[in-house]
Amino acid sequence: MAALSFRDARATVLRELRLRAVAPPVETVPLLDSQHRVLAHDVTADRDYPPFNRSARDGFAVRAADLPGRFGVIGEVPAGRIFSGEVGAGQAVEIMTGAPVPDGADAVVMVEHTVREEGYVAIEQVIEQGANIVPKGSEAQDGSVVLSGGARIDYASIALLASVGRQSVEVFAKPRVAILATGDEIVEDGEKPKPWQIRNSNAWSLAAQVRRAGGVPVVLPIARDLKDETAGLIGRGLAEADLLLLSGGVSAGKYDVVEPAFADLNAEIFFDRVAIQPGQPLVFGRARGKFFFGLPGNPLSTMITFELFGRAAVDILSGASDAPLPVSLARLTRDFRHKSGLTRFLPAWIEQGNVTPVSWQGSGDVGALCRANALLIADSEKPEYEKDTIISVLLK
Ligand code: AMP
Ligand code: MG
Repeated sequence: MAALSFRDARATVLRELRLRAVAPPVETVPLLDSQHRVLAHDVTADRDYPPFNRSARDGFAVRAADLPGRFGVIGEVPAGRIFSGEVGAGQAVEIMTGAPVPDGADAVVMVEHTVREEGYVAIEQVIEQGANIVPKGSEAQDGSVVLSGGARIDYASIALLASVGRQSVEVFAKPRVAILATGDEIVEDGEKPKPWQIRNSNAWSLAAQVRRAGGVPVVLPIARDLKDETAGLIGRGLAEADLLLLSGGVSAGKYDVVEPAFADLNAEIFFDRVAIQPGQPLVFGRARGKFFFGLPGNPLSTMITFELFGRAAVDILSGASDAPLPVSLARLTRDFRHKSGLTRFLPAWIEQGNVTPVSWQGSGDVGALCRANALLIADSEKPEYEKDTIISVLLK
């Protein structure tokens, strides 16, 4: 199978998942617990927002056409009260931020632009009708959709849900994501590795990443590099979870048994190579009605390919309408070159719009990724970047 470009591979993942996406079950959670969850249904406004013409300033409510002039102050209206009278010609009501604008008035003059006299207020300014007033229903009208089903809930959505009176929220159930580390050299947690063995860090990074993405990690026992044992654990992962992630065993080595194991399961393979680094050997497929990723085993390759592809799958399986990749632009602080042909995702530090590559020893160097807060994205067709060039970065 030919290697796909990064763009095509990502498009394939999004297309295949969306094609088969079914809405997850719905559960009701307390408002605060809905943070980072996916809203199951549209939420509508229970009244107009704001519910009255709201003053945006402390000042005086007047009729704009009367300005400038000297106004008789006929009362005051703090937030949380209502002024029962009407503002007539040459009259003003002292008003506070958040209070309803009295009938008759059509503008609020900021207190800073007024001079208070006994029983009067002098205003030299001229302002337009509607100045410093947020009209009733201008933020949302009664019955209109304020949050759409499929939205990922953040702190601003929590505020909106609270303001329309929700104390609990219907969200989609989190997808279960099975994690299967493979490799004869990998030892289980708590075991002391022999000099030629390696601790299983991939199951931990993937579990953390799945959780952050909104899924429930289900960590399986390590699969030895034996086809039948690997196929058995793959079958278990496919049965127990909505998505299966494997690490390791996807290269072309003699003991890389992941692809042969999937072949035995009659899996459909959408791609098994992507022109990226880290992570060239990368399998995406479907078996027994579930999607799976065979991620390369080098720790940075595992982590980065999950962010690039796996996270989008978790988003869609969560019922989210978007699968965002947080890419932004930054200015390179130094010259930078790489070999063309692959899109590279390299540990980097971004600060105030400037990005600096972090030195690293290759795909096993977990410490380098700990020292990074972003991945610099080097275009496969652009081998040389000069200092001050604007380059894409994926935020970590
Ligand atoms: P593989 O993709 O199976 O060829 O593995 C590539 C490299 O990643 C090997 O050097 C492994 O030691 C390392 N590796 C594989 N799986 C894990 C794991 N679960 N945790 C930490 N390192 C791993
Ligand atoms: Mg291996």
